Order: sequence, then structure tokens, then C-alpha cells
Amino acid sequence: MEYFDKEMDTISLKALRTLQNERLRDLVQRCYDTIPYYKALFDKNGIKPKHIRTTDDLVIVPFTEKKDLRAQYPYGFLGVPVERIHRFAASSGTTGVPTLIGFTEKDWDVTLLNQMGRIWKSFGIGKEDMVYQCYGYGLFLGGVCMERAAKAVGASLFPAGPGRTMAAIQWLKDMKHTVICCTPTFLGYLINEACKHGIDPRKDWALRTGDFGGEVAAPSFRRKLEASLPPGFLYHETYGLSELGGACVAFSCSHTVKSNLLHILGDHYFVEVIDPETGERLEPGERGELVFTTLTRESNPLIRWRTRDISGMASEPYGCACGREAHPLIHHVTGRSDDVLKVRGTLVFPSQIEEILSRVRGVGGGWQIVIDQPPDTLETLLIMVEADPASWEKEEELKRIKKEISSHIQARAGISPQIEIKEPFALPRYEGKAKRVVDRRKEETQNI
Ligand SMILES: [Zn+2]
Repeated sequence: MEYFDKEMDTISLKALRTLQNERLRDLVQRCYDTIPYYKALFDKNGIKPKHIRTTDDLVIVPFTEKKDLRAQYPYGFLGVPVERIHRFAASSGTTGVPTLIGFTEKDWDVTLLNQMGRIWKSFGIGKEDMVYQCYGYGLFLGGVCMERAAKAVGASLFPAGPGRTMAAIQWLKDMKHTVICCTPTFLGYLINEACKHGIDPRKDWALRTGDFGGEVAAPSFRRKLEASLPPGFLYHETYGLSELGGACVAFSCSHTVKSNLLHILGDHYFVEVIDPETGERLEPGERGELVFTTLTRESNPLIRWRTRDISGMASEPYGCACGREAHPLIHHVTGRSDDVLKVRGTLVFPSQIEEILSRVRGVGGGWQIVIDQPPDTLETLLIMVEADPASWEKEEELKRIKKEISSHIQARAGISPQIEIKEPFALPRYEGKAKRVVDRRKEETQNI
């Protein structure tokens, strides 16, 4: 087994816990001393830095959320003087003010390099690989994190960035890249375009693995992708967020690549899973929201950051056979607590609908949930689903598809949605993250 940082990758659970607690005490003191938000938060709740000795003590600290970061725009969360910032990034601000994230030289050249190197070694990527990189650049961290990773493991990088589909499908054929970095939606899009233009990705491309993040593909969509690529292709996943320093938080390993479990880099992040409604910590195996405390970031350190991402600790989070025994395993993220819909009181995750749709024969590539009421007080759901070209115009087939979708959703999610079958390619395609829930009320406002 090859590691990028053998000492840290194979650290024992006991040693990791000691290290986490040491780093936590330092972090809490730094946050209190340098970030006015944390000083005010601690003072208001009667907490002193000395009260937080171990990760168990963290439960007394209130969560930090996106609105808290926004309220301190632009520099309130840096934690270091602005002249020490080597580089900035910004998280996409869907509702106005973006969040700025700073990196000191150490954050960038030591911490991020270590994280990305460890992740790509876990994926088995090395000097002999040529990487087709199509995450975005600029203030977005996806592309540059992949650059850090390639530098760390010595792989050759082809920094194409997003888009350029026609060129991409040809380059992948001509240059024989062995690794691709993109969202699963974009990979699906590239495969479709290649097939349309007489390129067979299974034979004409040389991809053997990839770094997939930004969104989660339903298992059946993922199997479809794998089946369209050269035999033996390994679908490796990463998880990360700009606020936590990039695509550098969690990753699959050779033992978990087929089981949708991801290791957290436990020396860099302390993870908790909470009940999104009550804020209580949950046990391994229970599904809830991921909360992270950054243990090594100099700039933008965070204590108990609410991600809104739904996941859970694996029922056996420790002892993975890859050797990273102390770095806990979580389930890959299957939705956002913000995206959860409540239909007549029943919680419905868009990822659940996607998984159901992908099992019904005759369903095409595009689908959307359309709502026109607040997402937590819905009476019913409208799901628009494309038929595949072979089923379209066959009335009996369309009836069957509709009926099958209805009965599966009724059985699995306990609701009876309205289903509208659409012509193939009638719904929008996305090169990045697919938009699965469309709120008609907002669409209308935007059109005015
Ligand atoms: Zn492992």
C-alpha cells in the first residue's frame, strides 16, 4: 500500500485523538483571540477557551453557519492579518454576498498540498498518469485543488477547465488521458457527446480512474458511467467545501471505492453528524447533517461548521483495511438539508427520487421536481421525467413508465406525486451541477 504521508495516514486511533485534542485547544484559543465573532459567541454563552479540552467538549459550542460568515464580510473570519493571505477564494453566493476564504502560504503550500496528495495517492494516481482536469478555475477552488493534487503526486496535468465538449472528447481520444476530474453530470454529458460523434469511450479513451465531486451520482447512474468507460475504470469520490479549504476533506480508498464510503482526513478535520432539527450529535450508522471543525487551517478556521450536507458515519467508522484505520468513514453525501422537501409531512430527498427513476426502464436522461409552494409545506410533488428515444411515441410504454414510477415512489417514499412524461431532451442539461428542484415561484420572480 502506498501512502503520501504514511505517518499520518496510518496513525492509530488513540494517537489521532490525542493530536485532535491538542490541535483543537490551539484552534479554540486562536479563534477566541483573533476572530471577533468567536469571542462574542463564547462570551455570550459563558464559554471560555479553557472549557474546550477535548472534542467531546465541543457540544457546548453553538454551530457556525453561512449567515455568520456573511455577516462578517469581507475579512471578519480571516483570523490572520490580511497581508498574510497568500491567495483568496470565494464560495458561490447564491443569495447575494459571497463568502471570502483566505489561504496563508502554509494553508496553500503545506496543508492543501498534503491533503490533496494523500487523496490522490489513495486513488492510486501517480507520476505515470495524465490528468484531464475540467473543474472550474478563478475564485472557485475545484480546479486549483486538482492542480495541487497533481503537483503533490507528480502527475501530468491538462488543465482544460469546464466546457469545450467537442475538443474534450477528441483530446481524450488523442492524448489518452488516464484520469479525469469533473462532476459526474459532466462526465455523463461528455460520454453522450462522444457516442453521438462516433467516439466509443470504452475503446477510444484510456481513462482508468477519476476524481469526482461537487455532487453525488445515484448508484445506478454511476454504474451507467462505469459501464461506458474502459473496463476496470474506478470511480473515486471526493468531498469538500470552499469554507473548509476546498475539495480536500473526504475521499474514497481502494477498499471503499465500491461502497460509497469516504475517509475524513481526521488530522485536518474533526467531524460530527447531527440531527438537523435538534442539533444533537448522532451515533454511527444514523443519517444526519455533517458538521466540521477545521484543525489545521491558519486562515478561516471554523468551529462546528454546519455544512447542510446529509450523510452519516459508517456503522463501523474505524479500522478500514486500506490502513487508514483512524480516519473515520462517512457515507457519501446524498443531499442537502436545505433541499429536503416535505410533502404532507413526509421528508423526501431529491437523491431518493433520482435513484428510483434510474431503475425504471424507458426513462431518459433528464428529470426535475417542480414546486410552487414552500418546500416544507408541499401538498404534492410534480416530477417531470424524460422518456428515452426508444419509448417515446409508444403510448403503452409511456403509460407503463408513468405507472412504474408512481408505484415505486409510493412504495419507497410514501407519497403519490404527479408525473409528467416529457419528450427526450426536453428538459435542460447542465454541464456542472444539475438543478433538480425548480421552484416556480422563484423562476417567475427572476423573469420579471
Ligand atoms: Zn480505507
